[in-house]
Amino acid sequence: MSITLNSPLDMHLHLRDEAMLSTVGPLSSETFSGAIIMPNLVPPVSTKEELLAYKSRILNACNNKSFTPFMTLFFKPTYTREFLESIKDELTAIKLYPAGITTNSEGGLSGFDVDELRPTLDAMAELNIPLCIHGETNGFVMDREAEFVSIYEMLATNFPKLKIIMEHITTKASVEALDKFENLYATITLHHLLITLDDVAGGMLQPHLFCKPIAKRPEDREALRAVALSGHPKVMFGSDSAPHPQHAKESCGCASGVFTAPIALQVLTDLFVEHSSVEKLQAFVSDNAQKIYSNLTVPQKNITLEKKAFIVPNKYAEVVPMFAGEKLNYSITQIEG
Ligand SMILES: [Zn+2]
Repeated sequence: MSITLNSPLDMHLHLRDEAMLSTVGPLSSETFSGAIIMPNLVPPVSTKEELLAYKSRILNACNNKSFTPFMTLFFKPTYTREFLESIKDELTAIKLYPAGITTNSEGGLSGFDVDELRPTLDAMAELNIPLCIHGETNGFVMDREAEFVSIYEMLATNFPKLKIIMEHITTKASVEALDKFENLYATITLHHLLITLDDVAGGMLQPHLFCKPIAKRPEDREALRAVALSGHPKVMFGSDSAPHPQHAKESCGCASGVFTAPIALQVLTDLFVEHSSVEKLQAFVSDNAQKIYSNLTVPQKNITLEKKAFIVPNKYAEVVPMFAGEKLNYSITQIEG
């Protein structure tokens, strides 16, 4: 049996910069038609010049005409309407990080004051620029996302015309919020569909599965699977593939992030086949995203997968992927486009 995916999209991707970008960029651009590129470089991408320069570094590193990097800016409440209008054609979304919550997010937002945010968020809504949010508070690590749901609800209520994407959701609480507000959407990673905290820390500590938001409880994973496997129209695949060099993961003070870009489509196919939901995979990996964003021009690319063993490399340069050295059930056998 073979499965063909049309123009798969990764709606949440970290490509980093410099040597790391050269390593990981081609691994995404080979099999995906496009990706939403996260702006958390040092310093974060927050001007038109930085955005255009980063885009050209990505295009250079990827060197693949059928891959579009969809660029984002690092949210600042000081962005004016004039600024957003001037950058609108180069920009797909804006990513909001609460201050200090994950890798390179120190300059993020430290409060959610509606009056302070209103000029920027109203302008984004009018210009059809979605707001992507890393939704975690500074609370207890297992509760951070569930605590943030009230902020999602406050923003969704106050800015009903703004498309708000709850990035990499990991909890039942976030899944439940999806259907309460018309303007809330979500991305879900591969690893959060697969693992719980038990896989990270239940036995010997698994640094390559350590990420933010941290994997949660079995009932949370079930809720995520239910919406992904049913092709729920408000959820999209976003890998949050976040490479770090091996020494930064296998160390005292492990960096957060799971590297899944080169194995994501193979493992998603296996998961969807296993749950008799393979006919929903196209919606999850591309169609839903195109409807939700409505401003994407997506290159044509057909990816064919077959049930054929694929041994995951132990490393891609200095980066250890999820399932390193293990055998996957599906392989990519053809790429057109
Ligand atoms: Zn991320």
